[in-house]
Amino acid sequence: MSIIDVQEVCYTYAGGFAALRQVSLKIEKGERVAVIGPNGAGKSTLFHLFNGLFQASSGRVYVDGLLVEKKNLYRIRAKVGMVFQDPDDQLFNSTVRQEVAYGLMNMHVTGKELDDAVNWALEAAGICGYSEKSPNNLSQGEKKKVALASVLAMKPDVLVLDEPTAALDPQGASSLVRLLNKINKEMGITLIFSSHDADIIPLLSDRVYLMNAGEIVLSGTTAEVFAQKGIIRKIGLRLPRVAHLIEILRKQGCLRTEHLPLTIGQAKHVLEKFCCINGPGKTECNLDRGRSEPRTAGCGEASEDVGWRKARR
Ligand code: ADP
Repeated sequence: MSIIDVQEVCYTYAGGFAALRQVSLKIEKGERVAVIGPNGAGKSTLFHLFNGLFQASSGRVYVDGLLVEKKNLYRIRAKVGMVFQDPDDQLFNSTVRQEVAYGLMNMHVTGKELDDAVNWALEAAGICGYSEKSPNNLSQGEKKKVALASVLAMKPDVLVLDEPTAALDPQGASSLVRLLNKINKEMGITLIFSSHDADIIPLLSDRVYLMNAGEIVLSGTTAEVFAQKGIIRKIGLRLPRVAHLIEILRKQGCLRTEHLPLTIGQAKHVLEKFCCINGPGKTECNLDRGRSEPRTAGCGEASEDVGWRKARR
């Protein structure tokens, strides 16, 4: 049984605007799924259906087999934690510690169990240092970490994050990616997030749904979806920068590879194959030699899908 099962859902706002049209998707336990699309595509609206903040105008949403409807909301909200794009929508307690404890206290958690869960969440989000501060006196990035900690403390089965890295500095974004991957791997928490940061998406997702104008226009593994470069660009999104670079090198005839690396790690692997940077006895990088013949002798790594093209003069 899927942890999230959205079946032919439409959602129309009170003013009559149809924000979601016939959206269907399934997300399995433990998956890491990105929902991407330009502004106004319907991502936030979709997320609000996952824990019953919005009710579908038609169609059905199930969470772990429970239909999202009034009588199931308490159980569903214990399973699905939402971290909103704007932390100010979420924070209202006097101190960070109280904020993080709030949801648990509502679930009647007390004493040592409460303290342990709050301390763990503060530590995990890297905000122990300001647990006694008022959330009002924090930066936007710090507030985002508090919002995340307050949801994490409840150890939800599913964590839904709307633009989690927006407003974070680069170090904050990297440590958030590490934290989310850690809780996914170690605790089995299902991750569902939206992001406009094409460089972050491949680091944090196994699968991607691409939305536009209230509809899902593409879905597949992260690699499959980013391989549809034309569609991605047509609706105003972009590839990860490293993929764009490899695409340029490919077009210029410098590089021949079937695969489009999406992360620095993947690109490093592709480039190492013909630079032989790490090969035994090889210290010179072919990239420095412009579009010359490949130096494959002794390299042993030139494969069918990775190699230099002959010089075009
Ligand atoms: P995204 O998260 O992909 O940027 P949203 O789900 O926030 O998109 O919005 C989808 C569409 O619904 C947008 O066109 C937006 O203008 C519209 N919308 C959002 N909130 C409301 C509302 N309260 N009333 C009417 N239309 C809304």
